[in-house]
Amino acid sequence: MSRVIPFIRRSVASNTPADGETHCAHRNIRLVERGEIVSCSDCLAVLSPFWALTMLSQQYSLAMSQIERLTTRTKLADARILELSQELDANSREERRQNPPSTDT
Ligand SMILES: [Zn+2]
Repeated sequence: MSRVIPFIRRSVASNTPADGETHCAHRNIRLVERGEIVSCSDCLAVLSPFWALTMLSQQYSLAMSQIERLTTRTKLADARILELSQELDANSREERRQNPPSTDT
């Protein structure tokens, strides 16, 4: 007598970034060492390892671009803070020059 083992029905992700049925972008991947399976933790779809690597590579590139943009913005903000500090110091010096402290007390 043969024994039938029930398996959970899982959809295999196509080459497209999102599964049409679940509308899941499969961003939360899980690596199952047993069987070397890559699956989505959110929708449980079994993913193509190549697709998962491609998605991770794209996400990595996006993250690196964002870090680069934020670094540039931080440098610009630092330069602006320095510029404003110098302006404030110059204004304070000018104010002291125009209104010297009283010495007749
Ligand atoms: Zn998913």
